[in-house]
Amino acid sequence: MSAVASRAVLPTYARQDVTLVSGDGAWLVDAEGRRYLDFVAGIAVVGLGHCHPKPLAAAREQLDRLWHVSNLYWTEPMTELAERLSGRFGGAQAFFCNSGAEAIEAALKYARKASGKTGVVALEGSFHGRTCGALAVTGQPAKRAAFEPLLAGVVFAQPTDVASLQAAVTDEIGCILLEPVLGEGGIHPLDARFVEAARALADDVGALLVLDEVQTGVGRTGTFFAFEQLGVRPDAVTLAKGLANGLPIGCLLVSDGAAGAFVPGEHASTFGGNPVACAAAVAVCDAVDDELLGAVVGHGATIADRLSNVRGLGLLLAVELFRPAGEVVADCLERGLLVGTAGESTLRLTPPLTLTAEELEHGLAILEEVL
Ligand code: PLP
Repeated sequence: MSAVASRAVLPTYARQDVTLVSGDGAWLVDAEGRRYLDFVAGIAVVGLGHCHPKPLAAAREQLDRLWHVSNLYWTEPMTELAERLSGRFGGAQAFFCNSGAEAIEAALKYARKASGKTGVVALEGSFHGRTCGALAVTGQPAKRAAFEPLLAGVVFAQPTDVASLQAAVTDEIGCILLEPVLGEGGIHPLDARFVEAARALADDVGALLVLDEVQTGVGRTGTFFAFEQLGVRPDAVTLAKGLANGLPIGCLLVSDGAAGAFVPGEHASTFGGNPVACAAAVAVCDAVDDELLGAVVGHGATIADRLSNVRGLGLLLAVELFRPAGEVVADCLERGLLVGTAGESTLRLTPPLTLTAEELEHGLAILEEVL
């Protein structure tokens, strides 16, 4: 392993002692030429695998034509991506930005404007990002503590506890914000009954039901949107991570039924809708077909069969451990497998959706040895 650590970088991450220089499919290579099977995939970002030929070709072609214009003009990749996402959603309008947290900021502003109310209900243990608005609705006090006071009017309910949700959703609430699977909070899927209750409560009080699909979206759970498995239609969803297979992009998608709240000048992002990122994202949307989604479900089931204490959906999986997850991450790294964590004793597995059966077998053999 070879690390190019630098004191010129702010220490906001506890980085592994490795510098990665190239990637191909589910494999990464470090600065010394050592290969790693990647079960992190940029934390559910590189869904099609590293340097997948389709988004790569689309991004390259776009780089040769046009890198950037102001959002005062239209570009073909941006409108094409909006059409693709609207089609997948079943009628929606998109606002493009550059990250998950920015998509959450857009959702919070949109819900205020659409509902005329400032209150937000989010979940204990949730994670929505590190900007001040996204942090305010993140249900992890330890992450918020050093940065208070944040946005006012945020109430946290207990995941899967309908009574707690009912108590939290009052007439002041303009937004109910849920991750279909709490990701950073430990990979805890919400059940359909809870999300249906949230839908009904949002309708009762005139709030928007916003699903944060930054981590669950774009096929990660075995359907394009995780909400397709929950039997509800949200008023809006946020997307980011997997959308452009690793190029920076975020998106707020508002259902046609909830559209019309923003007017020109009320929200903006200089780089939002960047043509290169959007061209790659169009290729990603086209690649996430039924065959790939079927493979995601199949691979997820294989992992759950082979390892103990697995939970999650599709290829967004946790293995609950009885020792510090950091030790397992280090042991796997030593054996050439990258895995992540979602809490002190929770291993997170988010391999590329395009993983082959042989690659899955290779990774499972290492995990079985280490666990
Ligand atoms: N929402 C969810 C569900 C996430 O998992 C994350 C990041 O992990 C975010 C929002 C924030 O995304 P970003 O890191 O791109 O700002």
